[in-house]
Amino acid sequence: MLIEVLGCFGGVDPKHNPVTLLLDDKILLDAGSIVSVLPLERQKKIQSIFISHSHLDHIKDLCFLADNFIMMGKGPVNVYGIPEVLEMLKKYVMNNKIWPDFFEIKGAKGKKVLSLNPIEIGKPIKINGRYTIEAICTNHSIDSSGYLIGYNDKYFAYTGDTGPCPSLWERLNKVDNLRALFIEVSFPSQNKDLALITGHLTPSLLMEELKNLKNKKTKIYIFHIKPPFMDKIKEEFCHLSNKQVTLLEDGQKVKI
Ligand SMILES: [Zn+2]
Ligand SMILES: [Zn+2]
Repeated sequence: MLIEVLGCFGGVDPKHNPVTLLLDDKILLDAGSIVSVLPLERQKKIQSIFISHSHLDHIKDLCFLADNFIMMGKGPVNVYGIPEVLEMLKKYVMNNKIWPDFFEIKGAKGKKVLSLNPIEIGKPIKINGRYTIEAICTNHSIDSSGYLIGYNDKYFAYTGDTGPCPSLWERLNKVDNLRALFIEVSFPSQNKDLALITGHLTPSLLMEELKNLKNKKTKIYIFHIKPPFMDKIKEEFCHLSNKQVTLLEDGQKVKI
C-alpha cells in the first residue's frame, strides 16, 4: 500500500494543507485537500472516499471534487462514513443551499455523482476485492470514526480527530500486523485542557495514550497539527526523541 499525504494539518495557511491521505491512487481518507493538490487526471482515478467526521478541514474539498466529477461525467463515486457523519454532510453541507446535493444530482449520463455508503463501527467491509476497511472508535467533539485498513495481512490505522480513547487501543491491540498508525496531535502540551474539551491530543497526551498500544514496532505518524503551533509542537517532539514517532509533512509518501 502506498499512502500519499495530500494534506496533514488541522488548519490552513499557504504552507499547510488540511487533512487527506490518498491510498494507492484511488482511495481517500478524508477530503480536506484534494482539488487544490491533485491535477484533474488524478482526481479522475478516485473511486472511494472515507470520511472521519464532518468538520470542514476534513470535508471541504469533497464539495469541489464533486463539482469536477460532474463536469467530467464521472460517477457514482462511493462516499463512506458512519451514518451520523453522512447525515450531517447531507443535511448541512450538500443541502442545495450551502452546496448542490451531489448525492442526488445526476450527471449528463444519468448517473449520480456521489453515492452514500453508511458503515458501522466494528463491521469491516471489502472494497476493490482486496482492501478490508473498518470504521473504528474515536473520541471527538462530534460524531466521528477512524479507519483500520488492511491489504494482504498488512494493516494501518487512521484516527481522524480524536482525544484520549480507550476503545481505540482495545481494537488496535487485536491487530497482529499493525504497520503504522496515523494519529492526530493538534495543540502543544500546555493546552491540555483545550485539547480534552475539544476532543484532540497534545504531545504529552499522545505519549500517555501510546502506552496503551502493545505493538511497539508500529510506526506512529503525527498529523493535524494546527499551523500556528507547528514550531512549538516540533520542539516538543524533538525533546521527546521517540524513534517510533514521525511528524508527517504534506507531499510525503509512506509505504506500508
Ligand atoms: Zn480536524
Ligand atoms: Zn474535527
